Amino acid sequence: MSSGGVLELSAAEAAAAISAGSLSPQELFEAYRERAQADRDAGAQGLNCFTWVAAEAPVAQPGDAPPSALTPAGVPLAVKDLFCTEGVPSQSGSRILEGYLPPYTASVVARLQAAGAPLLAKTNQDEFAMGSSNENSAYGPVRNPWDRGRVPGGSSGGSAAAVAAGLAPWALGTDTGGSIRQPAALCGIVGLKPTYGSVSRYGMIAFASSLDQAGPLTRDVRDAALMLAHMVGRDPCDATSLQFPHAITRPTSERLDGVRIGIPPELTGEGIEAGVLQAFSAAVARAQELGAEVQDVSLPHAPHALSAYYLIAPAEASSNLARFDGVRYGLRAEAAQELLEMYTRTRHDGFGPEVKRRIMLGTYALSSGYYDAYYGRAQRVRTRIAEDFARAFAEVDFILTPTAPTVAFALGEKTGDPLSMYLNDYCTVPMSLAGVPAISIPCGLSGGLPVGLQIAGPAFSENGLLDAAHALELAIGFDQGPARV
Ligand code: GLN
Repeated sequence: MSSGGVLELSAAEAAAAISAGSLSPQELFEAYRERAQADRDAGAQGLNCFTWVAAEAPVAQPGDAPPSALTPAGVPLAVKDLFCTEGVPSQSGSRILEGYLPPYTASVVARLQAAGAPLLAKTNQDEFAMGSSNENSAYGPVRNPWDRGRVPGGSSGGSAAAVAAGLAPWALGTDTGGSIRQPAALCGIVGLKPTYGSVSRYGMIAFASSLDQAGPLTRDVRDAALMLAHMVGRDPCDATSLQFPHAITRPTSERLDGVRIGIPPELTGEGIEAGVLQAFSAAVARAQELGAEVQDVSLPHAPHALSAYYLIAPAEASSNLARFDGVRYGLRAEAAQELLEMYTRTRHDGFGPEVKRRIMLGTYALSSGYYDAYYGRAQRVRTRIAEDFARAFAEVDFILTPTAPTVAFALGEKTGDPLSMYLNDYCTVPMSLAGVPAISIPCGLSGGLPVGLQIAGPAFSENGLLDAAHALELAIGFDQGPARV
């Protein structure tokens, strides 16, 4: 197979070719490694997708590849920087963790490696996963391969851009309020946030623990299912992880007969760009053609989700980030006279402006006298939002919305206005607060840039969700990509 041909294969196709013996895993790894390394060597002239690239293909272990229809064996994996990887820099996009080499590997990465997927690279991200544009990374912004003057979305922007540009066959990301789905949408690929608790968080450098969830960024829906199948499961090292109630299967549906789809007016009207709404409506029409019954369904508290999220997430972050004090990991400010000064200087030098803003917000929201008015109230709103979804899913099987209110925007366009940046998460945050799974698939172009369709389902409905997404993906037939770099 030519090396160009190798790069065209989806992860599932590559895995099948490897298991049939028609493709060598070393050849596949080297083809991607070269491309990833070239992007890294190009520095700011490239897409800046990676913070680390493997030096060579790992030596294949005999018996590494169990022959099965659902094996990822031999398919190189790009991993968001915030997953701890033993002996490999894991910096969560922050200066405070520069050069940090963890002594262990995150459970989800270890699972994929044990299934035969070798570590290709670590991907650039917003600092501590705070952001929607990847402009908050201490290692420089990532560029969108569709238009290098635009952002790839965030915070898993390096993972999304790498997959969209064909620099990695697939990538692991994390989603706290939209960080897998929104960059997948802005880069024209598939991104899945699984049900909260279905994937172990052990070894993921924490942002907001009651929301953080790992998931796949892939070229198509089948690849998302393949990766997810090797991610889910209870982990004794993460008390919030659960045994997934059934095996993840390969999506095959081509129709949506009898499937009830709900459209929430709260997330499909005001604030969504006209071009995005157009592509969204066309996708809803496709769903109807496939046999789905489409109806309105209300999520009355969804408009309050962003306000609740921007109290809960910073509150949890302010607590999680207290551990970065110059004593235990990474950076330590020199020349401090005493301990408190060392803490303060380390945190002053090590954290970027968005992280500092969130620590201040979160600390304030949790402070005595304000706790009930802010954090307590936000938690009550969260409960209401979860109840909205429970009510909606008694009437419909899935909910459809646009993934992001706009297509990819210009670098620098929103950095001066945090509130307009936060609006990127308007459609994705409600599902995060409710803990339910949601997938973004490309559903068309607006002004030459990709638009994402979000499909959400009840907790643990991943198999049905992937099936519905697969049927829609086939019907939509989105086959464009950015020009190859
Ligand atoms: N953009 C959102 C934020 O900045 C979501 C980030 C995420 O999901 N990690 O918090």
